[in-house]
Amino acid sequence: MTAPPGVERDFPLARLTTIRTGGPADWFATAGDPGRLVSLLAWARDEGLPVGVVGSGSNLLVADDGFRGLVLKLDVGLAAMEPDGQRLVCGGGARFPQAAALAARLGLTGIEFGVSIPGTIGGAVKMNANAYGGDLARVLEWVEVAGAEGLDRREPGELGFEYRRSNLAGGEVVARASFALDPADPADVKRTLAHLRAQRKEAQPSGIKTFGSTFKNPDDPRAGGETAGRLLDAAGCRGLLVGAARFSEKHANFVENTGDATTADVIALMSEGRSRVREHCGVELEPEVQLLGDVDTEALCG
Ligand SMILES: Cc1cc2nc3c(=O)[nH]c(=O)nc-3n(C[C@H](O)[C@H](O)[C@H](O)COP(=O)(O)OP(=O)(O)OC[C@H]3O[C@@H](n4cnc5c(N)ncnc54)[C@H](O)[C@@H]3O)c2cc1C
Repeated sequence: MTAPPGVERDFPLARLTTIRTGGPADWFATAGDPGRLVSLLAWARDEGLPVGVVGSGSNLLVADDGFRGLVLKLDVGLAAMEPDGQRLVCGGGARFPQAAALAARLGLTGIEFGVSIPGTIGGAVKMNANAYGGDLARVLEWVEVAGAEGLDRREPGELGFEYRRSNLAGGEVVARASFALDPADPADVKRTLAHLRAQRKEAQPSGIKTFGSTFKNPDDPRAGGETAGRLLDAAGCRGLLVGAARFSEKHANFVENTGDATTADVIALMSEGRSRVREHCGVELEPEVQLLGDVDTEALCG
């Protein structure tokens, strides 16, 4: 198989994730402009390769034996941010906290919540990321989605947003997104960012290798309105260690790689947490973290 220029073989993925586990991708490439992105996607389609996208890897768990396909990462022009009046047009690879900070400097309000989400704009759209009552759908104007056939512009109403999910398919990549924001005093917006950062620091562990929330907050009435973190805590999971993976002492819904954890350790810990919560209150927790590659998820389903 002849790969396009710049496509690398056996590329280690662990360092592209915040939990730092998992194996290599058979094929890996960066894309800095829409033309290259579409041509890489077309090559993968023609070769029958599955496609994975990595943003900041802040909600991603890669299989220990890696991914038998093409992994793409957006950079350069597809990680840029361009102000346009009250709009901010961001590449899918732009980092959400940086977009929030730029909007503040420009005196634009609406994406302050992004300061707490350590991922990219593309990852945020895919995951319908949210924090502190923010709402992506409210501020998103359009999203440019790349596929093997080309680019396609979609409005938020077409993205099937639900709690921590969208309807974007596996080979669809968010190339760019436009936010329609409102004018505000830059000092006020910066104050809000500082406040949100402080709130985050108070509530969550920092400086650890984690992918943030492991399980979604359940809407099962048996949860009594409790978050996944509180249910895990009540079921005795805070600080629980399997291999080198541990539920954080500070936030029980955060899995921490304490050293040389494998993805298998993380899955075994998640499985143990899930069964303890089931025994404790009957609630089946559903993973929030996204999986890439052949991860053995049997213990996490049903
Ligand atoms: C400390 C910490 C705190 C967090 N707090 C929050 C929070 O408050 N709220 C929240 O919602 N999340 C939170 N997260 C989770 C995570 O940051 C978000 O889900 C984020 O949106 C993921 O973006 P990413 O770029 O890191 O995506 P990745 O983790 O790289 O990927 C996640 C998924 O998005 C897909 N994806 C990535 N980029 C693209 C693209 N360009 N086009 C299409 N699909 C793409 C991937 O294929 C994968 O399926 C937190 C994570 C950490 C580590």
